[in-house]
Amino acid sequence: MTERIYNFSAGPAVLPLPVLEQVQRDFVTLPGVGMSIVEISHRSQTFEEIIQGAETDMRKLAGIPDNYQVLFLQGGASLQFSMVPMNLLPAGGKADYIVTGSWSKKAVKEAQRIGAVSVAASTEGENFKRVPTQAELRLDPEAAYVHMTTNETIHGVEYKYDPDTGDVPLVADSSSDIFSVPMNVAKYAMIYAGAQKNLAPAGVTLVIMRDDMLARSPASLHTMLNYNTHAKENSLYNTPPVFSIYVMRLVLAWLLEQGGLEAVGKHNEEKAGLLYDAIDASQFYRPHAAPDSRSLMNVTFRLPSEELEKQFVTEATKAGLDGLKGHRSVGGIRASVYNAFPRAGVEALVAFMSEFERTHG
Ligand code: PMP
Repeated sequence: MTERIYNFSAGPAVLPLPVLEQVQRDFVTLPGVGMSIVEISHRSQTFEEIIQGAETDMRKLAGIPDNYQVLFLQGGASLQFSMVPMNLLPAGGKADYIVTGSWSKKAVKEAQRIGAVSVAASTEGENFKRVPTQAELRLDPEAAYVHMTTNETIHGVEYKYDPDTGDVPLVADSSSDIFSVPMNVAKYAMIYAGAQKNLAPAGVTLVIMRDDMLARSPASLHTMLNYNTHAKENSLYNTPPVFSIYVMRLVLAWLLEQGGLEAVGKHNEEKAGLLYDAIDASQFYRPHAAPDSRSLMNVTFRLPSEELEKQFVTEATKAGLDGLKGHRSVGGIRASVYNAFPRAGVEALVAFMSEFERTHG
């Protein structure tokens, strides 16, 4: 086997090595089953244990209350941009959206096709370098829900607080920071996340949703687009992404083994801290995010010129540090350091940055 490099990709992203090794070991013949995970029926006892095991571990890990559904869906977080308003925004109703980057803008675009959307706050005028404070939110007490993006993957800005929306249900896109720090699930009516950053390979989308939200879906909705279908059938209405759910099940067990979200969160704070400290100590590297909104998952920064940024990425790749190019829409450098990203890789990047500055600064 060739040696693994450090993968700073924003997603699909690095998965825990022990999980990959177990997948490899058990891939051709799942122990006791005699078939591969990608060959078994989604209605088999084996898969039922896998999906139930994933849900049980997830409930334990994140402290998900009993009155919340856990759904394993498809279509990515992008389909949730549509399903959320289709199910939760009644005819004639309105929804509040907090806009903190490209992903929340995409969510707004889909919601506008369904009904009235009001932007409760936007930091676009500041190039999305921070999230708004609670005091800045212009919330409508009549809104059907408030939508937020807990971590903007492209800009690298993340909330450090759970917004208070009073009695209005709060819906969060947590695709890029789910299970990265301890969570207060009860603050949210719904949390969704594409799996391909912190949870699993691409293909499965997680929805954690309070029971009472299910009553809002209009009966006229297409079956597959109605949350009730998936809640009633335990995410087995149609064929689910069996392999992705299997890997997610292993990742969740791994997170529990690490000591749960307290321990994982502390580890993530330390990893991101090493990078932000290096950026702050330098005149050469400039952070994108304001200190109070800095993402623990996606660390974004600029160099003095685009030319140098290009060179930085090329030389980093040669040094075994892959995936550091910022998103095409904003440029710069982005180091994604999800749960499974090893501290040694962060240390290697910090050392590389220091050497690059010495030779090019
Ligand atoms: N929301 C956020 C915050 C994301 O980072 C992404 C993917 N990068 C999406 C939504 C879209 O996810 P998907 O590709 O699973 O549709």
